[in-house]
Amino acid sequence: MIAPQATETKHWRFHTDLEKIGWLTIHSPEGSVNVLSREAIMELETLVARIEDLAASGELVGVVLLSDKESGFIAGADISEFDAMSDFSVLPEALKRTHALFARIENLKVPFVAGIHGFCLGGGLELALACHYRIAVNDDKTRIGFPEVNLGIFPGFGGTGRSIRQAGPVDAMGIMLTGKMLRAGAARGLNLVDKLVRHRDMLRWEGRRAVLSKRKSSGAPWSKRIMALGPLRGYVASKMREQAGKKARQEHYPAPYALIDLFEQHGDDWQAMIRGEVEAFVPLMGSPTATNLRRVFFLSEGLKKQGLKGAKFARVHVIGAGVMGGDIAAWCAYRGMSVTLQDLDMARIQPALDRAKKLFKKRYKKKHEVDAAMLRLVADPQGLGVPRADVIIEAVVEKLDVKQAIFAGVEDKLKPDAILATNTSSIELERIAEALKDPARLIGLHFFNPVAQLPLVEVIRSRFNSDEAIARGASFAQAIGKSPVVVKSAPGFLVNRVLMPYMLGAVERVERGESKELLDAAAVAFGMPMGPIELMDTVGLDVGKSVASELGHAVPEDSQFARLIAAGKLGRKTGEGFYKWEKGKAVKGPAPAHADLAGLGRELVKPLVDTTEVVVGEGVVASPELADIGVILGTGFAPFLGGPLKARKDGRA
Ligand code: NAD
Repeated sequence: MIAPQATETKHWRFHTDLEKIGWLTIHSPEGSVNVLSREAIMELETLVARIEDLAASGELVGVVLLSDKESGFIAGADISEFDAMSDFSVLPEALKRTHALFARIENLKVPFVAGIHGFCLGGGLELALACHYRIAVNDDKTRIGFPEVNLGIFPGFGGTGRSIRQAGPVDAMGIMLTGKMLRAGAARGLNLVDKLVRHRDMLRWEGRRAVLSKRKSSGAPWSKRIMALGPLRGYVASKMREQAGKKARQEHYPAPYALIDLFEQHGDDWQAMIRGEVEAFVPLMGSPTATNLRRVFFLSEGLKKQGLKGAKFARVHVIGAGVMGGDIAAWCAYRGMSVTLQDLDMARIQPALDRAKKLFKKRYKKKHEVDAAMLRLVADPQGLGVPRADVIIEAVVEKLDVKQAIFAGVEDKLKPDAILATNTSSIELERIAEALKDPARLIGLHFFNPVAQLPLVEVIRSRFNSDEAIARGASFAQAIGKSPVVVKSAPGFLVNRVLMPYMLGAVERVERGESKELLDAAAVAFGMPMGPIELMDTVGLDVGKSVASELGHAVPEDSQFARLIAAGKLGRKTGEGFYKWEKGKAVKGPAPAHADLAGLGRELVKPLVDTTEVVVGEGVVASPELADIGVILGTGFAPFLGGPLKARKDGRA
């Protein structure tokens, strides 16, 4: 009998048991997730050398790789190292070294098995794909995928070739090009994992079985591989370019296109694909797009770190079941909270419940989950939920006296530490708060329409509020999966304030006879997700007009804008505004030719960028970084430029 071997390094633990199975566990020393830092990779090199020796001498029959962390397997490479890694003198060597390490794992004579729970993303998935067999926990938490494109790169640790080998070219490229995260069942369906287990504690047992029975995953079947062969590959690549073009332009987001090029060159030979990664990957990593996307990533991670540790919110009471209140209530119930929804009568609440059911059906896979969410959302015309609520959100009509009366009515009934919030988009918070005995209680939680899709919540601070009240508001936004940006109570807050001059500027140009199609195309060519006229139609011309007047931009009575409103042509919601709308899409005529579309877009966006500078100067948001991330999340402003202020600093806006 051999003596069990044990080693512990900063990132890994390894021991062999009496059956000669090696148990390798990753435990990144910092943070709640495991990441493949350079140090972790170097330590793994040493451990793999040891594993090779043990295997050669017959002291090891196989290895099971697991994670110690609750959050999951491995969330990816260490993004905080990427800026330093962008250096051309460092990156190619680092990539080649990791390629060599993963190839050694793959070439081991004994089975190397990965046991996956929770996040298995990016570099984590690449390591798992270099193992001989993959077992994953089939629960709600498992997420398997390649999010690299969101950071302006593609998999660089051999994931391109190995995912194609496993899943076939079309499916593998699909997940790499979209950054989609798969659940365990879907990953099994694509042959990215080989076996599913129900619970995390079954991974060890299944891992042991896989080692002892020398299980080995097989590659994608011929019927899938054929898509990368001969002339078919060029056709598949051109289809992929067409799809990618619908989502992002090459000049803004080069990574998907570089990956498709690599596929076109080497897609029929997974090892050549891996070798080709290095050359194609290196220029992407240091590109302005990738640098800015990393900045956006860290800024949004920073938003998640605000707020109070351990703050818990179980019950929410929403007053006003209209467009916003109804959707806020539904969202909170979707995120697991018990919600009571109040309006003047049941007839006004019912449509919100019907919409909520649609949301739940779309988002949940199983009927019992939809039913449970519907049970969490309770119509409450009498406001019986107020005394038990941890959070009360008012979203009634935009009238000061109505809002004041509501807050005066609930103030005495609240739990002492309940959050009291308004969703007002234009009334100064202080004026609403004046109706309260304790005006410091009222904060703003400004959601965006459609609530289920837009990630930003502006947490509005009045001059009465304490830091703690605002931190609690931010914690609540995080608890429902939204990104909070703290904004001072000032007309238009952040997002409406910067959007309005941009949208109105474009409307004025249309009034002067310029083509709306051209202006919209120009803004998109600059990098906006949608042009300003289409955006005005989407927001609603009535809403646009009222926000404009609140910001001191009156809409002239003799304008096309005013005439459209008078005729009830309010945009997308009424089927016509500046555009006619069919099946949720603006019907556009051809745009006249223009020599410098992106330049025109830049001109259109200028008022937005100027206003962001003003807003930061006035202290409405605490820093240029917060303004950048707030405007990106609230308006979709070109993430590859890093936000309006970063774009200006770089001379790109
Ligand atoms: P809405 O007209 O769709 O809904 C308002 C609801 O409030 C109606 O159902 C009405 O019956 C109800 N209501 C009126 N008086 C009430 C009372 N005393 N008690 C209970 N319910 C009462 O309005 P909306 O678009 O949902 O806007 C609501 C709030 O959200 C406003 O303050 C608005 O400024 C803000 N907001 C709107 C948007 C948007 O895009 N619509 C975006 C952000 C914020």
